Amino acid sequence: MAADPVIVAGAGPVGLVAAASLIREGIPVTVLESGPTISQEMRASTFHAPTLDMLDDLGAAKGMIEQGIIGPKLQYRQRDQKLIAEFDFGVLADVTRHPYRLQCEQFKLTRILHDLLKDKPGFSIAFNAQVSGGTDHGDHVEAVLEGGTRIRGSYLIGADGARSAVRKASGIEFEGFTWPERFLVLSTEFDFATIIPGLADVSYYADPEEWFFLLRVPGVWRCMFPVAPEVSDEEIMTDAFARARFARIVAGRDDYPVKHRTLYRVHQRVAETFRKGRILLAGDAAHINNPLGGMGLNGGVHDAVNLVEKLARAIRGEAPEAELDHYVRQRRGVTIEHVQRQTIQNKKNLEAKTPEDQADFRNRMAEAASDPAKAHAYLLGVSMINSLRRAAEIE
Ligand SMILES: Cc1cc2nc3c(=O)[nH]c(=O)nc-3n(C[C@H](O)[C@H](O)[C@H](O)COP(=O)(O)OP(=O)(O)OC[C@H]3O[C@@H](n4cnc5c(N)ncnc54)[C@H](O)[C@@H]3O)c2cc1C
Repeated sequence: MAADPVIVAGAGPVGLVAAASLIREGIPVTVLESGPTISQEMRASTFHAPTLDMLDDLGAAKGMIEQGIIGPKLQYRQRDQKLIAEFDFGVLADVTRHPYRLQCEQFKLTRILHDLLKDKPGFSIAFNAQVSGGTDHGDHVEAVLEGGTRIRGSYLIGADGARSAVRKASGIEFEGFTWPERFLVLSTEFDFATIIPGLADVSYYADPEEWFFLLRVPGVWRCMFPVAPEVSDEEIMTDAFARARFARIVAGRDDYPVKHRTLYRVHQRVAETFRKGRILLAGDAAHINNPLGGMGLNGGVHDAVNLVEKLARAIRGEAPEAELDHYVRQRRGVTIEHVQRQTIQNKKNLEAKTPEDQADFRNRMAEAASDPAKAHAYLLGVSMINSLRRAAEIE
């Protein structure tokens, strides 16, 4: 093993996937996590097929599948429940070992990865270790902790989330915009499949004013609604507000018990670069997007796997350090070309305002679902296989 460990700031899903990939390559790693323990936040719940293939290679997919829900289908519906299109991920069985969407809370992934890693030689993790930045000394780095402690490493990966201290301290701009509306997630133990015939575990509802989506995760359905900027946080958090949103789902019903209520701002931002010398960014530290399509965490896992392939070669002296720019070209390239473009388009589709745009969306989806070959082509995009293929093409 190389003398200096790679330092990873952040023990979120992306930091721990990077750590597991490094350990698999025989490279020592030190993870610095600001929290007192591994995060228990539910947050992302969608895992796409190629991400599951990657997690399987790290030994983490089996536990996720056991603790999650296999979602074989995806639906687009109108507010009146009329089905616009239904897709079966089974058609992807020729290109993935996991031809479905797995619905599983992200804290289960971080827990599984931490359990897999904690006794491995070369792995160490420090909690309550808040990174404030890093210094690149040309042949090594130092991560700087709040309080001034410096920790030496070969490289520093900033996987410290959307507010990344590593990104900010490196002076890297986070370019993009914030949507005016916020997104409200209401989780309920009520089972919508009992009142909506044929409801898929992942269902997006298009409507010019009141679009939303329903996702089944273990134990609850997550219902996500956009909220206009002028509504106050206090009002949003009331039961009356929740009931008014629930009333959009099935006419005449609004009485579902709320288990969790989360309101969050939604951004479309990409770091101006994912590399400054020996300091690298991955996951939310490098890019954030709206949750329509479940691409944020998945893209972050794809970053971590891609980055470690290059980093391992550079550390072993099998490739020049410039190989790390290849990571930036590939992952930043597809983040912009695919993830940002697709998630913005997904929002536009659901909220289409004019009858022409609404008809265009319905027709495109109906056409894509009209035969297995077209559905296959469409689902390659939805499940992010196309973005990985495109990244592999970028020199
Ligand atoms: C409500 C919601 C729903 C979502 N749904 C989906 C979905 O279905 N599919 C999907 O793909 N994505 C989804 N996302 C996005 C997804 O949650 C993120 O993309 C994902 O968490 C990114 O992982 P990460 O490891 O890069 O960052 P994080 O999960 O934010 O982890 C960062 C880690 O770094 C630690 N940290 C922060 N600052 C420091 C510091 N200075 N020093 C040391 N440690 C630090 C944090 O404590 C944390 O443990 C959703 C997000 C939200 C908010």
